[in-house]
Amino acid sequence: MAGATGVLRGRLDPRPLPTVSVAVLAAVWACNLLPKVFSVSESLRSVRARIAAAGRRGSQREMLQRVRLIAVSKFIPSDLVKEAHDAGQVDFGENYVQELLEKSATLPQTIRWHFIGRLQSNKVKKLLDVPNLVSIETVDSAALAERIAAAATHREQVLDLSIQVDTSNEATKGGVSPDAALPLAEHVAALSPHVRLAGLMTIGAPGDLSAFERLHQLRHRIAQQLQVVEEELQLSMGMSGDFEEAIKRGATSVRVGTSIFGTRPPKE
Ligand SMILES: *Cc1c(COP(=O)(O)O)cnc(C)c1O
Repeated sequence: MAGATGVLRGRLDPRPLPTVSVAVLAAVWACNLLPKVFSVSESLRSVRARIAAAGRRGSQREMLQRVRLIAVSKFIPSDLVKEAHDAGQVDFGENYVQELLEKSATLPQTIRWHFIGRLQSNKVKKLLDVPNLVSIETVDSAALAERIAAAATHREQVLDLSIQVDTSNEATKGGVSPDAALPLAEHVAALSPHVRLAGLMTIGAPGDLSAFERLHQLRHRIAQQLQVVEEELQLSMGMSGDFEEAIKRGATSVRVGTSIFGTRPPKE
């Protein structure tokens, strides 16, 4: 009798079976699809499209030549960095000397590394051992710039240095005051043939879009004073939360982490 009831129920009420199948299908779908939705190459594609749209002139390729995308990979495992590099990303940013040393030792030399973290003078020599380090964006004192220039004499490539400016008056984030940026830029520009004044960088307080405008105006003053073409000085500003706003205000370089790699794992 029990078997007959089961058959009968199965016939009269066909829902239990399909429900199970739907759940199985949904699980299979999720397993196949989620990694694709959150894949690094997909996020990169989306960030590039957003950069192009924020510029609103020229093709995506032209925009990406005008605005450099630095993929910020702090705390991100090397295999994901490799995935982004395989997807065509060349510029990467790191914040910690030790982490960069470890990653650069195993990752392809075709990566262009940008140092974007606080730099202590006693770590400069180690940092400059990374052969494919192309820039340091966080120069905030003449003494640090001199250390870097001295350590750079053995390198083949000229190292790009940017002055980090504290545009939101937030001492915690580092950087020199806008008033101190001009003399420091003059100093860096005249320092050594092994380093080059590349431009200005700022982090800015979240939501403070006027920080981007202040950095832009500061570049104008510095270019006039140094008698260089303003557009030849980089403006590195804008992160995941505000890179489009930064581009609209003249950024030539944006540093994007979370929008490419997802939320960072906490540092151990
Ligand atoms: C971590 C970091 C970024 C990237 O921030 P996201 O919000 O993850 O895009 C950019 N610039 C600096 C200096 C950083 O330390």
